[in-house]
Amino acid sequence: MIRTVWKDIRSKEAGHTQCHEHIWLKRGASYKANHALCMDDRERSLTELKDYYQAGGRLIVDAQPTGCGRDVAMLAELSMESGVFIVATAGFHKKEFFDDLLLFTWPEEDLVRLYTKEIEVGIESSGQGSSLYRAGILKAAADRNWQTDPVYQKLFEAVAKAAGLTGAPVMIHTEKGNDILRIVHWFQERGISPEKLLICHLDRTHYDIDYHKEVLATGCSLCYDSIHRLKYVSEQEEMALLCAIKQSGLTGQVVLSLDTTNQRLRSYYAEDMGLDYILTDFLPQLREHGFTDQEIRQMCTTNARNILNFA
Ligand SMILES: [Zn+2]
Repeated sequence: MIRTVWKDIRSKEAGHTQCHEHIWLKRGASYKANHALCMDDRERSLTELKDYYQAGGRLIVDAQPTGCGRDVAMLAELSMESGVFIVATAGFHKKEFFDDLLLFTWPEEDLVRLYTKEIEVGIESSGQGSSLYRAGILKAAADRNWQTDPVYQKLFEAVAKAAGLTGAPVMIHTEKGNDILRIVHWFQERGISPEKLLICHLDRTHYDIDYHKEVLATGCSLCYDSIHRLKYVSEQEEMALLCAIKQSGLTGQVVLSLDTTNQRLRSYYAEDMGLDYILTDFLPQLREHGFTDQEIRQMCTTNARNILNFA
């Protein structure tokens, strides 16, 4: 089963899926760091989801984790109204995106308890106690100093322990220069198998197909989530990467996403794209480049089902 924010669903109910998006983000620390990181207009976010549904989209993961501007009650409302299933995220982002700075001071055991509770019981919603809304994935942000900073070390250990206790998958935010194999092994050493790991952003942080193959050989999955994020990767570069994945027979380990911001959603400030961009514009390009329906289905549906599935 897949745990969406308001309802557990059977894996086969998940159609076209994008595993790293942002559809709701309260104005806070993220906005202070970058004004593109705020989506707090109910009607605009709902329009994006309805357009996505209309184009064939059925599920997204909202990648905003614990204490970083997430609002699960809103995600649940938006999901019910649009028909798009939304998986909410527990765990942590980079320190600069935290609104709840107190979490840095929590002992590791309390963080484990919090993340586990957010997945198994319910998430505290705007000071109103525990809600019925739950997270279906964990997130760990590998900031450049994740191995030396004691707060990051504590947060990483807490996510690994919560993943072990709940069987939830783990998405990993990466930065340029990260040693990805080290991250995968770090989780392996703690009993979390690479099959549970979804490594995000390598299409912009490590643009190197040989390196991707090395990482994929461990058994983890990659989320190419910089599609049409043109300040990082051109459409041609993204396509070249995917064609190399296809030629290597690795489409079974890659999923596609946009990692949206308010600058890349047409209901907010984008001119040329919305949450439905992959469905309306990118998949036709993949077909022109020789991708079969089966390969597209793998990258947009079946791989995501396998990743989001609870053990
Ligand atoms: Zn993101």
